[in-house]
Amino acid sequence: MSDEPYIPDHGDDSFDVTHYSLGLAYKVVGNRLDGDAELACLARTGTTSVTLDLAHLRVSRVLLDGKPVRYSHRGSRLKITAGLAAGQQFELRVKYAGSPSTLKARHLDDAGWEELTDGVIVAAQPHGAPTWFPCNDRPSNKATYAVTLAAPSDYYVAMCGRLTDQRRRGSVTDWTWEMTHPMATYLATVQIGRYEVRDLEHGIVVVAPSDLAGEGYDASFGEQPEMMAYFETVFGDYPFDAYTVVVTDDPLEIPLESQSLSTFGRNFASADWDAVRLVAHELAHQWFGNAVTLTEWNDIWLHEGFACYAEWLWSEESGRESAAEQAEHHHGKLSDLDQDLLLADPGPALMFDDRVYKRGALTLHALRTTVGDEPFFDVLRQWVERFGGGNATTADFEAVVEEVTGEPRADLFDSWLRELPLPALPS
Ligand SMILES: [Zn+2]
Repeated sequence: MSDEPYIPDHGDDSFDVTHYSLGLAYKVVGNRLDGDAELACLARTGTTSVTLDLAHLRVSRVLLDGKPVRYSHRGSRLKITAGLAAGQQFELRVKYAGSPSTLKARHLDDAGWEELTDGVIVAAQPHGAPTWFPCNDRPSNKATYAVTLAAPSDYYVAMCGRLTDQRRRGSVTDWTWEMTHPMATYLATVQIGRYEVRDLEHGIVVVAPSDLAGEGYDASFGEQPEMMAYFETVFGDYPFDAYTVVVTDDPLEIPLESQSLSTFGRNFASADWDAVRLVAHELAHQWFGNAVTLTEWNDIWLHEGFACYAEWLWSEESGRESAAEQAEHHHGKLSDLDQDLLLADPGPALMFDDRVYKRGALTLHALRTTVGDEPFFDVLRQWVERFGGGNATTADFEAVVEEVTGEPRADLFDSWLRELPLPALPS
């Protein structure tokens, strides 16, 4: 079992899944999912059992290396009897079915597979992956994926990576998407709706209701090619093969990043800065969060602080407020709030608190002001180059900073990350 304290009872440290091959069939009417999952795995330690996460869905069969095997499925934990030696490769196959729905977790909003008015959204961060496939649900176990999903032919199905096959069989169409870059379970997604596909420049595809257009749309989603071009100059090349932006017909309170795909409600088709900044924010997560993923959830500032700082960078680049003005503004607002949140370990209840986002961004701005622009952006590019495709910690980030700038910045990181009072911004 994983000892991850933020999302307890998810994940198993004794093995890694290296590849998920999922064969799914979904009926929109009736919300029925049938699944056949083949998982290529590697034992990290010798063990007599391995545990997968799968919630609300009923398992009918489990095979280990092609042979039926004993298992027990209690709550969302599927424990499989398996005598394995450290370093042993093995394959698990799980057949399952049921009505998928979101999963609860202490201190957190429900996450996972959810029916829309007409379609499906999977918003799995941070604990919702087990609502649609059996997985080793810890962010430190990244794997590649091939997913085929059969859905009624009048719907579009968007998933992570590249669409490699689309085959119509009368009233049902099989969609195959492949993610060849390592991906954390919570970043896998399925989006089903009555969507039209629009190609923008820079490899960006918008999947949206056909009536979605106009000034608001152009101002937020239409800015993405420029955002992409700019972020590539400051963060390095876009880390994946494609970028799909799904806009649901239902309004959504907040957008969400998945790997190579982000999901917004149609309410984000707006020229308001609050819409534009979140379009930039989700795109920036492709570098910070998705390519470079935290090892444990306490380091969530490595995702949210960086994506928030990318908003401020885009603000400046697009001729709005400068990053320094944004930093001043948010520093002032934060100084009026309770300073009882430890950025390096906010706890599960506060991991998505807005103060994590803003203080995280301010930490980066303080670093930039201290070391200068050129070393700062070097640090960001080195970070992605070195840890892209894998996992990293705050200590790893501090080591990159020390290496690139030639000095440890322990005082700066201590005061922003490991102490409660809000430090002054360096001038
Ligand atoms: Zn975010």
